[in-house]
Amino acid sequence: MTSSAQTILSARTTLDFATCDRARLARDKTFDGRFVTAVKTTRIYCRPTCPAGPALSKNVTFYATPAEAEAAGFRACKRCRPS
Ligand SMILES: [Zn+2]
Repeated sequence: MTSSAQTILSARTTLDFATCDRARLARDKTFDGRFVTAVKTTRIYCRPTCPAGPALSKNVTFYATPAEAEAAGFRACKRCRPS
């Protein structure tokens, strides 16, 4: 895979990487449920509003749904329970 893996995989959303990254760093509630943040270093995925400290942008990728993150091998965060 190339860096194109950093785009949202689902047709359900048109959010791009920069939009998702801004939303999670701001813990913007209006994005809750619109995507999940998957952290490649921990194999965990989170809601945009997760209270845990945000991971570095270079270590994250975004999915439109928890199911897609699960399918990619990530597990739900125990703090924000994004499923
Ligand atoms: Zn979380």
